Amino acid sequence: MKSELFYKNPKTILNKGTGFLAGYTHSLNPYTGCSFGCSYCYVRAMPVALFRDGEWGNWVDIKNGAANLLKKELQRAKAKGNVTIFMSSSTDPYQPIEHKEKVTRSLLEVMVADPPNFLLVQTRSPLVSRDIDLLQQFKEKVRVSITIETDSETIRKHFTPDAPPIQARFKTLETLAANGIPTQVAIAPILPSGEYFPEKLKPFVDRICLDDYFLGDGSGGNRTRKLGMEEKYAQLGLKDWYGSHVINNVYNRFIKTFPESDVYLSQAGFEP
Ligand code: SF4
Repeated sequence: MKSELFYKNPKTILNKGTGFLAGYTHSLNPYTGCSFGCSYCYVRAMPVALFRDGEWGNWVDIKNGAANLLKKELQRAKAKGNVTIFMSSSTDPYQPIEHKEKVTRSLLEVMVADPPNFLLVQTRSPLVSRDIDLLQQFKEKVRVSITIETDSETIRKHFTPDAPPIQARFKTLETLAANGIPTQVAIAPILPSGEYFPEKLKPFVDRICLDDYFLGDGSGGNRTRKLGMEEKYAQLGLKDWYGSHVINNVYNRFIKTFPESDVYLSQAGFEP
């Protein structure tokens, strides 16, 4: 999706980890807005999107001076104790504009020089591979969590037409692992998938996190309902895949291929 770009000068860059991210001291968003514009994105139903002209996905704010802000705030935070950072909670740090702007890369450079105790990088974009040289320097203090909600390109195109293809994400996992970067797959939210999805993932990753609209949208599924997702599933003839029971069905399928200890549910899968 071609998004309108805005340059902003934020006053702060680190936010306190709360709610779903209560296990983290901070969240870090290099951008506001996200040109992947996923149909189910819960941020669509949050004030940052609701009180803004233009549909979610059509605009992105680029944070000027992000690295300088982080340098100062990280120093202050570390002086108070452990610092664990989730990047990112309401944008994708490797959305297309990152190719040119390199805001995320500038933040990683700051954190390599002054490392937090743990950094989780949450993305669905193959662009994360560009920063392997920096990610390697965190050693075991980083985990890259790649969203792969389904193994079906057809389903992916129905729900997230502007997001990277599934096969490219598999390849990204393989590249990260080959370069020694700790990874996980976030099947989040669970979208309809094929019976052999676990077997397809097995060669590339050993840690799986499952999440759904009811546990993971921060409102027990209310935000997702407001986005009309239930109707979307019905229109696509996928009603059986919408409901709080689905996560258990998918979990049972995954633990036939992965050890139970490697398959996490919702918040637990994203913990430091
Ligand atoms: S990539 Fe993440 S932040 Fe961006 S629209 Fe999709 S769900 Fe929302």
